[in-house]
Amino acid sequence: MHRIGNELNKLVNRSLDRHVRLAVTGLSRAGKTAFITSLVNQLLHVSTNPRLPLFSAVRDGYLLGAKRVPQVDMHVPKFGYDEGMQALLSAPPAWPEPTRDVSQIRLALRYKPQKGPMKLLQDTATLYLDIVDYPGEWLLDLPLLEQDFHAWSQQQSKLLKGKRGELAQHWQAMLEDFDPFAPADEALIERISAAFTEYLYKCKAEGGLHWVQPGRFVLPGELAGAPVLQFFPLTRLAQYTEAQLQQANEHSNYAMLKSRYQYYRQHIVKGFYREHFSKFDRQIILVDCLQPLNAGPASFNDMRQALDQLMQSFRYGRSSLLRRLFSPRIDKVLFAAAKADHVTPEQHPNLVSLLQQMINEAWQTASFEGIKMDCVSLASIQATEPGFVAHQGQQMPALRGDTLDGQSQMLFPGEVPRRLPNETFWQQHGFDFVNFRPLEIQSDEPLPHIRMDKALEYLLGDKLQ
Ligand code: GDP
Repeated sequence: MHRIGNELNKLVNRSLDRHVRLAVTGLSRAGKTAFITSLVNQLLHVSTNPRLPLFSAVRDGYLLGAKRVPQVDMHVPKFGYDEGMQALLSAPPAWPEPTRDVSQIRLALRYKPQKGPMKLLQDTATLYLDIVDYPGEWLLDLPLLEQDFHAWSQQQSKLLKGKRGELAQHWQAMLEDFDPFAPADEALIERISAAFTEYLYKCKAEGGLHWVQPGRFVLPGELAGAPVLQFFPLTRLAQYTEAQLQQANEHSNYAMLKSRYQYYRQHIVKGFYREHFSKFDRQIILVDCLQPLNAGPASFNDMRQALDQLMQSFRYGRSSLLRRLFSPRIDKVLFAAAKADHVTPEQHPNLVSLLQQMINEAWQTASFEGIKMDCVSLASIQATEPGFVAHQGQQMPALRGDTLDGQSQMLFPGEVPRRLPNETFWQQHGFDFVNFRPLEIQSDEPLPHIRMDKALEYLLGDKLQ
């Protein structure tokens, strides 16, 4: 009888166990790897973690513990938590190596249910948390699903102004003699694609630009070198009408580019939305607002454009493209201004306000049906300590930290504008956000952070009730 009772209990427990898929994204270097490493670390230390007062499940003592469990999706690479912690615990501490593809890690969170049938039926329950990391650049590809090759080529040629125009020169020169009607020359297409990809990399690295398409070209993951990543927009189309190009025969250069573009849309872009995106429950989008403030107005405006683009993926009103593809599940999105420890604490409210302004337009005009959104500023892994310095007889806020090459520094990195910066701002303000090395920690301590608990509360609080 007792045994049957136990079995029944187990069965009830299993059927009541819950599951949440938390997606973490952001453009490259936004801080995804640091965020996931810290999130896992905070949760693994949950029973003794004094650093999570804003996370109610920990503050009120009903989150009992967390452990890592094998992930269920065996085809998705594992997130390198151990490698990340090894880097952070090394002497001197180093930042974890970023991941470049989708990756995943699973935790089982044991908690005491607080409400509803769970509370009546069980003393303890388990919430399985899958954390999925993917590059934000992949979300920039969503509009491709509604653009054919010709429309995409036209749109790309309009972008080739200013810095982009300069960076595109080499690739554009290669297009001068390219004949779309000639028999498909795979080697030539490969060479021009390589120059186009090089241009996209340069936009990010030299131009400080974020809005690059197709997103997989700069973060190819396992597709590096595959023909599906060997095409380019035909930006020199003015001499042909669309009707002429449509008549290019099926063995022409034009047909090859077009079919690769279609394959990319159909299998890579749609594939990501179907296999991954459609299964997410919660989403955090990390934004490094400080890097474009350092880099200047072109980079800043480009980041806004990239964010607008990124938000399209959460705009699933009834007739939206995503809703036509599948039923999206994400019901909460958190925008996080990452690396808040790069600025002094009194600047943090400005950082949140700036991020809100950056996404406000899209937020206001879009129909984000059934999705809650919020903004926060945080530091996943705190690398500086706030303090004060005496300046002209006054105590001024400052930060202390060790630079990446080990120099100890005390500095005031600059003021974060509350609103979107205008001309005067760009002329008058200099920013100098230095990259610091992570603080030294002991292996049995949780990682130091700023407001990770606030993010945890928003993303998981209600799931642990
Ligand atoms: P990813 O490309 O989005 O995965 O970005 P990473 O997590 O690798 O972060 C890129 C870099 O940003 C790191 O190497 C650090 O230099 C810096 N970084 C990330 N998170 C933090 C943070 O919380 N504080 C500070 N000071 N730097 C951070």
